[in-house]
Amino acid sequence: MGAGKAPTDNIDMIKEMAKKKVGSDKHIDGIKYLYGGPMNLGVQIDILDKGKVIGKSIYHLQGQFEMDQFSDLKISVENKKKAKEKWAGFLESKITKPQSVISPMDVYTNKDLSVRSYNQAYSQNNNTGCGPAAAANILNYWDERGYTNLQSDNDRTNGINLMNHMFGDLQTSIIGTDPSAWAQGMKTHANSHSGYRFTTQNYTYDASLGSTFWGYMVNQINAGHPFGMFFPLNSKPYSWHIVTCRGYYQSSTGSKSYHVNTWGSDAWQDYDSIGNHTLMFVIPGS
Ligand SMILES: [Zn+2]
Repeated sequence: MGAGKAPTDNIDMIKEMAKKKVGSDKHIDGIKYLYGGPMNLGVQIDILDKGKVIGKSIYHLQGQFEMDQFSDLKISVENKKKAKEKWAGFLESKITKPQSVISPMDVYTNKDLSVRSYNQAYSQNNNTGCGPAAAANILNYWDERGYTNLQSDNDRTNGINLMNHMFGDLQTSIIGTDPSAWAQGMKTHANSHSGYRFTTQNYTYDASLGSTFWGYMVNQINAGHPFGMFFPLNSKPYSWHIVTCRGYYQSSTGSKSYHVNTWGSDAWQDYDSIGNHTLMFVIPGS
């Protein structure tokens, strides 16, 4: 690696190598960075056959060669936490000096889907447009992935027509959108109005239940399904708001974050401090 060049610049090259190796009938996905010391940065790539993970390849990030296995360093949780922040910065190219030493190791998994963030401010109602905007983000995502009846092509950039149309499908009222009506409305649009067979699943988390749905969220994102999240009044980090969840980050030290789109922008949120919410999964059909 040259001075000022982040080792993650090599990721595209490594992906090419992995693709060549698996052949044209299989796919690669699920990049996971491995840290085993300053000169021992690894990348684990899942090998998929017809959507199922059938194996994993590990590559040396700087050396760009395949490895049989990656040696983990055994260290304290506290040191792993410190390393996580440095390693995250390293991957974002914030630390580019070649003499930078990051120690000791951390391992994390993340996946972030490419999802547009339509701005509810451009919809017919600035105050109640969050549900329609979250719906339009997800419908656009699927429209651009082969479900082309979901949105008109000339609406893709700002999604204004689709947002406004969804006020009706989602039964959005002057107080906003109910999470069950949101899920029902997604099916109304995708199935009754567009001819597909999408399904929805809602899971409501209440702090008093003492259970969380982090694993469910990770599974949906790993499957390539962005989903809606409803936050009731006085919840955290949002109050009376609907956003689109598009990605997650989880480190081996237990830190968890989720990536959302809202108001034409995006934000990373800490999962450990999340308040009451409803997950609104949207699963594509034929
Ligand atoms: Zn519709």
